[in-house]
Amino acid sequence: MPNDREIIGAAIRKARELGADVAGAVAAARLIDCPSAVVEKRPGSEEDRGTYIVLGLSHDPGHPELDLWEPGRGTPGDRILGKIGKELARWLQKEYGTSARLIPYRIEEGGIYLKDAASLAGIGRMGRSNLIIVPGYGPRVRFRAVWADLDSPDVEPPEGDDPCTGCENSCARACPMDAFSTGRFSRTRCLARMDADRNSGRERIDHCRACELACPAGDKG
Ligand code: SF4
Ligand code: SF4
Repeated sequence: MPNDREIIGAAIRKARELGADVAGAVAAARLIDCPSAVVEKRPGSEEDRGTYIVLGLSHDPGHPELDLWEPGRGTPGDRILGKIGKELARWLQKEYGTSARLIPYRIEEGGIYLKDAASLAGIGRMGRSNLIIVPGYGPRVRFRAVWADLDSPDVEPPEGDDPCTGCENSCARACPMDAFSTGRFSRTRCLARMDADRNSGRERIDHCRACELACPAGDKG
């Protein structure tokens, strides 16, 4: 019988087989006081044991429909990630008898701070835009996570290069809300734009992606 570390490696490979573009793992305990949890003054994970397998799906600007949000249904891209996550959880149970489950998207419903999780799992690094820059994909990746009853080593991800080195702040310059005017990302300003999008009365909402689409990171030559 493989040990937990080997099962986690197999789960990451399986996630890619099932359709995730990127995947990684992080000990659940590391999310409890992750940077976003500290800022928001709340625990960043309901679980203090086990492992989160983080799944990422590239949202190519050529397929904007992946990101169209509908009340009560979320986005098509998130539904694809949810399906991958459920299949992965079933596979872990069937192959290894490991208890696993797709966790909710929203932190208020038992989710985790997915960008922090992706960073701690070594999938990418936080850019100045407050988005995770993933090698090969830039910031155009959405995340979900599966919790699994597996012990993972409590290790820091390797330090990578700063993904924003040499960039002249394309994200900040593209933002219609001036959300970077103080030199730091303003969640409040960005959320004001998201709220306005939601209240626009449109059936399917294409949320602002200006900072994301302006980012040169991950562009393929
Ligand atoms: S999503 Fe839009 S409003 Fe929010 S920070 Fe990016 S560019 Fe600005
Ligand atoms: S646009 Fe430039 S500064 Fe902004 S996140 Fe992308 S690489 Fe970093």
